Amino acid sequence: MDFKEIIRVIPDFPVEGISFKDITTLLKDGEKYRQAIDELKARVSHLNIDVIAGPEARGFVVGAPLAYALGVGFVPIRKSGKLPYDTIEAGYDLEYGKDKLAVHTDAILPGQNVLIADDLLATGGTISTAVNLVQKLGGNVVGAAFLIELEQLEGRKKLPGVEVVSLLSYE
Ligand code: 5GP
Repeated sequence: MDFKEIIRVIPDFPVEGISFKDITTLLKDGEKYRQAIDELKARVSHLNIDVIAGPEARGFVVGAPLAYALGVGFVPIRKSGKLPYDTIEAGYDLEYGKDKLAVHTDAILPGQNVLIADDLLATGGTISTAVNLVQKLGGNVVGAAFLIELEQLEGRKKLPGVEVVSLLSYE
């Protein structure tokens, strides 16, 4: 199905020049949300996934239902200071701004196959930081799954050796 018609595009959000892809219009439609997760599931099911990791907050609304559908665990990757147990952290640049991500030190076991999920791949800064965190814990990143990819920002180039799946792409 064509999910593009259900994604709302907001010009100049959160700053001038950014054309924001608003996925809330997809999420509130139960049938389309389920179809999107089912399609991602079909496209990653050949990967031998042990666990899915997703960065807050929109990575949760893609990664958690995908983990449920595949019958694997979900690991939240959060902004610095939010997780209660011991963490490792990594800083990164966003398409707009800077941030720091953290994960619990015991969230991923060495040798586990990890799929990383988020709503959107732009520059790849967020997801490559998530990849770094997973790899620091000894996880093996087997793939990355997104609803949307902004192709011209070439985020894929920051994910060498990682199978990248996206449902929709924008120029
Ligand atoms: P990147 O780190 O690849 O440059 O940016 C991707 C991250 O920023 C994702 O976590 C995503 O949630 C957020 N993001 C950046 N641009 C957009 C956008 O247009 N729409 C949505 N929904 N998220 C965006």
